[in-house]
Amino acid sequence: MKPSVYKLGRFLLWSATDEKQAANAWPAGADTGKSAGRPSSFFSKISSDYLLVLDSTTDVSCDQQSLRRLLAIARDTGAGIIYSDFLRRDGDDISAHPLNDHQEGSIRDDFSFGYFFIISAAAIKTVLQKYGMPPHDASTALYDLRLKISIDHALIHVPEFLYTVSAKKIKPAKSSGRQTEEQFAYVAEENFVRQQKMEKIATNYLKQIGAHLPARTKRTDKEPEAFQWKASIVIPVLNRKKTITDALTSALGQQTDFPFNILVVDNHSTDGTTNILKRFAAKYPHIQHIIPSRHDLGIGGCWNEAICSPHCGRYIIQLDSDDLYSSPQTLQKIVTTLRRGQYAMVVGSYTLVDEKLKSIPPGLIDHREWTPQNGHNNLLRVNGMGAPRAFDAAVIRQIGFPNVSYGEDYAVALRLTREYAIGRIYESLYLCRRWRDNTDAGLSEEKQNHNDYYKDKLRTIEIQTRQQINEKEKSTQNINDKNHKECRHSRAGGNPEFLNTGFRVALRLPGMTNEAVTAPPQTADRQTGSSASLAPNQIFAEFPGKDDKTLPQICHNFFKSQKKSWPALASACRDLTGTKIRKLSCGNYSITLQYNPARALSSGAAVDAKSIKKRPCFLCRGNLPPGQHGILYRNRYLILCNPAPIFDRHFTVVTLKHQPQDIMASLSWLLQIAKDASPDYTVLYNGPACGASAPDHLHFQMIPSDTLPFLKELNELPPIKVGATVQIFAGKGFDRAVVVLASEDTEALKEQFIHLLKSAQEVFTINDEPPVNVFCDHDKGCLRLTVFLRRKHRPDAYYAESEDRIFVSPGAIDIAGVIITPLLKDFEKLNCDTMRKIYQEVSPDEETLEKIISSIRTC
Ligand SMILES: [Zn+2]
Repeated sequence: MKPSVYKLGRFLLWSATDEKQAANAWPAGADTGKSAGRPSSFFSKISSDYLLVLDSTTDVSCDQQSLRRLLAIARDTGAGIIYSDFLRRDGDDISAHPLNDHQEGSIRDDFSFGYFFIISAAAIKTVLQKYGMPPHDASTALYDLRLKISIDHALIHVPEFLYTVSAKKIKPAKSSGRQTEEQFAYVAEENFVRQQKMEKIATNYLKQIGAHLPARTKRTDKEPEAFQWKASIVIPVLNRKKTITDALTSALGQQTDFPFNILVVDNHSTDGTTNILKRFAAKYPHIQHIIPSRHDLGIGGCWNEAICSPHCGRYIIQLDSDDLYSSPQTLQKIVTTLRRGQYAMVVGSYTLVDEKLKSIPPGLIDHREWTPQNGHNNLLRVNGMGAPRAFDAAVIRQIGFPNVSYGEDYAVALRLTREYAIGRIYESLYLCRRWRDNTDAGLSEEKQNHNDYYKDKLRTIEIQTRQQINEKEKSTQNINDKNHKECRHSRAGGNPEFLNTGFRVALRLPGMTNEAVTAPPQTADRQTGSSASLAPNQIFAEFPGKDDKTLPQICHNFFKSQKKSWPALASACRDLTGTKIRKLSCGNYSITLQYNPARALSSGAAVDAKSIKKRPCFLCRGNLPPGQHGILYRNRYLILCNPAPIFDRHFTVVTLKHQPQDIMASLSWLLQIAKDASPDYTVLYNGPACGASAPDHLHFQMIPSDTLPFLKELNELPPIKVGATVQIFAGKGFDRAVVVLASEDTEALKEQFIHLLKSAQEVFTINDEPPVNVFCDHDKGCLRLTVFLRRKHRPDAYYAESEDRIFVSPGAIDIAGVIITPLLKDFEKLNCDTMRKIYQEVSPDEETLEKIISSIRTC
């Protein structure tokens, strides 16, 4: 029987399991479909493997070969959505239409999947169950569905021309006037209701992926630094001899109750603009004609020249070289708003006009979709904030503009709205002139794709950043609440700043400057992406998977498979069976010495900032050796077989993103991994300065849970506090400072752990992450964090000359009683006495430990 075709909004939908069925049901025309009815019940009832989606505004033809290709890729990859490039036929003319790759930031509703694409029915079912039904509205249901699908599934772009559309039925090609309307359609009045629906969908999606931020309230400093001018109008210009005089006249005509100047950044004009500027600058001393020394600047680079100029004023206000202020009061209005609201940025509204300054549709562009509550979230969906834009110079100087000529304003808006409250003015302050040869009119499709890709990339970066912010804010919020409620008397009085700010950047190694700590990685060998850029053959399996296997089961199969397919691991495992073991009995505790020459690399790893910056990151998946595969863990981590194992089945769990070791930001993940990996594995964390050989790339290790007897011995400790939910134990007489937290309540455990770290910060008087090794295991519903506090990473003997040198670099496993000695002489020589000294040297003494735990004992 021929499958039925349904209509949903402008799309025709039908389902199929193979190319034959797909081709059989191919709709004959735009009117063939019957109504799909409620999107929720329609999506729930799909019976075949794939849903095919066709844009009914076009004639699309696709042969069975191409359908087979698309469906094969869909099946092979398990992707959620598959789409391809297409050809367009116009009479005898055939033109190519390549599309962009989908990325995490492709969340705008006009992201193009082309005129025909395929959705996996399994993906639809999963997301409906997991993230809820789509809205009833046919025009937005697919948008909602594809955002939800993108959370857990790949959206794959096949860069092949797999179908052809007939040009005559495509909506009129983008050109001049028509384009202007389309481009601004999303702010037009009639579109408002639909935009609000889209905003709701996008906001919901951001919440689901942890990138949604509550309303931002940060304001600027009242009096940051001395500025010679109250305000500067900034005009970047390149070859605008026709309009620059109008722009300057409009700037000069501003009436204000404060002194202002005009910074014109002339990007090496060749059409006579430079001479006009010279004449103006000679006549008006408050016009600064800046010609950059560099020749590689885009518009963003020109802005940087202005904001870094010594002539830059306290507030800076945009004026494009072909636009005008709409009245002499524009500057005054903007500066008053900036000043009163202490805003980092104020965005006004503008009117579109033609060459003769006559208003053209849609007229006033005021971006009323912006709200103080959600504007900063919705900005990730829409393409911009409007104009003119104005900034607090002290803030914008710290951020700077990307040196590009498209999207530089959007990049800055995303960055500022992430942190600051933004001021808006909804009346028209500015005239934006449009005609044939100025800015974005009539762009080639290739250029348009490039621009779209860039803004999507900005959104991708922003989403990932906001996810990080949320994780940090959540962790610190918990403990702040608790401190506020329970510990006011004992702690909060001391240093309120400390409680509010939580942790600063955790990783600060000797010789690392502030910039080095916060700067994004410079080189291409640092990973920033998501799971989407993983090569399919790099992934052995996904957890959670479709077949309900537990993580230990998957790890078991994975390890077996890697031993077969990856010779380096096979040989490391052979070496491991030959390692020598020696046991030391040291009074209260015992120690196992392991002679393991393969660990020389790790024990000897240079972990200073300079060395790390120089080497390619060996945990970034782009740098993994051929043959090394991973388990994709909850779309955020990759579980790898450790190529220099200490135990049989020794895994490294690394974030997909290159980011520093940071226990605060990753605590929830540590607990989650421990739960998933139980009962077979214990998960451990080495602090950036206590044994992590890649402190620049966040990672944990998973080791079999029966390998560290000392952790079991710690079970015998008497509790120092039995709270309602969390039990706390502290070890004495082990020559190490160890605190154990145990609870069935994950949130309470997190709070207590953060409390412990903060207490350690106070006692050590540091702002960075306190040096720690942490073990986490999970048994019968109870989570246990075993925290070893550290004083230093390596003992002095590690740096001693020749004979006296002891090549032991204690990380978590060593601290927990299994000492790895890459050199035979150490293995033979080490005894309880030397080991006790090493432990004591790298751990805080009992008095310090007592100070640290006293606050959690009483609180
Ligand atoms: Zn890395």
